Amino acid sequence: MARVAFIGLGHMGGGMAPNLAKAGHEVRAFDLNADALSRAVERGCTAADDATTVCQDADVVITMLPAGKHVEDVFHKSVFTSAAKGTLLIDCSTIDVATARKLSDEAAFAGLTMVDAPVSGGIAAAEGGTLTFMVGGSDDGFERARPLLEAMGKAVIHAGGPGSGQAAKICNNMLLGATMAATCETFVLAQKLGLDAQTFFDISSKASGQSWSMTSYCPVPGVGPETPADRGYEGGFAAALMLKDLKLAHEAAEAVGAFTPMGAEAEELYGRFVDQGGGTKDFSALIKLIDDSWTK
Ligand code: NAD
Repeated sequence: MARVAFIGLGHMGGGMAPNLAKAGHEVRAFDLNADALSRAVERGCTAADDATTVCQDADVVITMLPAGKHVEDVFHKSVFTSAAKGTLLIDCSTIDVATARKLSDEAAFAGLTMVDAPVSGGIAAAEGGTLTFMVGGSDDGFERARPLLEAMGKAVIHAGGPGSGQAAKICNNMLLGATMAATCETFVLAQKLGLDAQTFFDISSKASGQSWSMTSYCPVPGVGPETPADRGYEGGFAAALMLKDLKLAHEAAEAVGAFTPMGAEAEELYGRFVDQGGGTKDFSALIKLIDDSWTK
């Protein structure tokens, strides 16, 4: 069993760290938020005073922080200064590919091994230990990370070298944002053309227009399997996080000269929706931006 330092106990990390403790690992945890830290202690972790001491004597350091700037800050100020040579670093946050690659190089220079391991699945999957991890890094780093990630997830996939986990995550989420936007506008058009939403779902979910956004996560209340649309668009994957991922995809596309017009359109729509106050709603609530009468 490993000695794990876990930094970042928010919506996601707050579920993940206790699952590692439940699996028998010795989990020392830290978060700037004292309430988040107390909740982790109640659920089997030990509290550390700060991000530097938590890394001392750890075999593995896991970070689950909001964005690239937070990960970079914690790595530079704490992890690189206190983790012993040979320590494995697993960053599960969703961050930009360039920062993930830069930190991996810096870690190697400091005698540490880093993998990027962003997740698919939301707060419920973090709690239930059913996340999907997309891992970027060396074969050795992946094999060392795998048993820990398996204690927190249902699937652990090696995407390629450093940064490839982040690349897979943002490509997947750009596709998801674009298909959700297309699904929302299609339901609005179908309704205006006089089609019943359930009837259109029955047809399209079995025809060539189907996608996960249509079949498994339908944005229309009362249609298809139960989704956040049936709960007033509460819970699920926040529109603000979708916007964050679409911005990361945009930055990455610019960096490599890829033309991503559908991703750009989805980013513009989610930007407008978040500006109008929709950021905490599930991302399928974008249908309200397309036609606000829809869910009244
Ligand atoms: P969150 O804001 O709820 O949690 C982040 C935590 O990090 C907070 O508790 C904060 O206090 C802590 N923190 C920030 N800076 C710190 C520092 N310097 N030292 C110690 N702690 C610090 O975010 P979240 O929803 O848990 O998301 C975490 C990551 O997972 C993000 O990158 C997000 O994009 C990604 N993600 C989230 C979801 C989701 O549904 N919430 C799904 C998939 C991926």
